[in-house]
Amino acid sequence: MTSATERRDRLKTVYEEARGCVRCPLHQTRTQVVFGSGNADAGLMFIGEAPGANEDKQGLPFVGQAGKLLDKLLAEIGLERGDVFIANVLKCRPPGNRDPQPNEIESCRSYLERQVELIEPDLICTLGNFSTKLLRADPTGISRLHGQVEERTLGPRAIRLYPLYHPAAALYTPATLEALRADFDRIPELLALGPLAQPEPSEPVREAIPEPEVATSAPGPTSPGEPTSAPERDLDQTLAQPLRPSQLGLF
Ligand code: URA
Repeated sequence: MTSATERRDRLKTVYEEARGCVRCPLHQTRTQVVFGSGNADAGLMFIGEAPGANEDKQGLPFVGQAGKLLDKLLAEIGLERGDVFIANVLKCRPPGNRDPQPNEIESCRSYLERQVELIEPDLICTLGNFSTKLLRADPTGISRLHGQVEERTLGPRAIRLYPLYHPAAALYTPATLEALRADFDRIPELLALGPLAQPEPSEPVREAIPEPEVATSAPGPTSPGEPTSAPERDLDQTLAQPLRPSQLGLF
C-alpha cells in the first residue's frame, strides 16, 4: 500500500522518464508525451490506444471527440475525470493516427505497467482492441470480449478487467454506442465490489502483459563522448523545462 503523496511522487518520476523517452521512433514526430491524467488514487482506470492529434497538442489523453463521448458516458454513471485515471497503451502519437506497431507497444509497455502498479486500481476498463489484447495477453478481439468482466493478475496486483469498445468506434456507429453505454452502466456495480483479494506480497507473480513478439527498435544509450543527435538535443531542451502539473493532470 502506497501513501497518496508517495504515489504522486512516484508517478511524477515515471512521467519525467517518459517525457524524455527515445525508445521508439515516435519520439521524433511527437509534440509531447501524453502520459495520462486523472486521479492517482482512483479505483477505476481506463486504458485507450494512443494519443491523436488533439492529445499530442494538449498533452492530455482523450481530449478530442472520443474524449467528449467518454466524458458523457462517465457523467451518465455519475463519474467525472477526477474520479478515474485515464492512460493509453502508447504515450506518443503515431503519425497520421495509424495503428500502434508491435515495437512501439513493446517499447512503451513498462510505463503502463508502472502506472497500473502505482495507481493500484480495482477495475481496469480497456478501451478497444489494443489495450484489451495487451492486458489480456491474447489476440481475441473486442467485439467478442466487450462487457465480460474477468479477474486477472497484472504485475503484483489482482484486478478486474472489463473490456469495452473504444469510444472512437462508437462515434459513428449507433449499435456500438448502444453496446458501449450498456457496458458502462455496469461499471458502478463492478466498482462497488471493491478490490479483489490480493496475492501474497512474497509470491513472485509477474504475468499478464505478454512478452514481446517483436524486438524493440530502442537505440542504445549514447556514451558520454558521443555527439548528441538533433532529436536528443530537442529532448534535452524539453527536459530542462519545468514539469507542468496540468500536463500530468493529477487530481
Ligand atoms: N484515442 C485514444 O485511444 N486515446 C486518446 O488519448 C485519444 C483517442
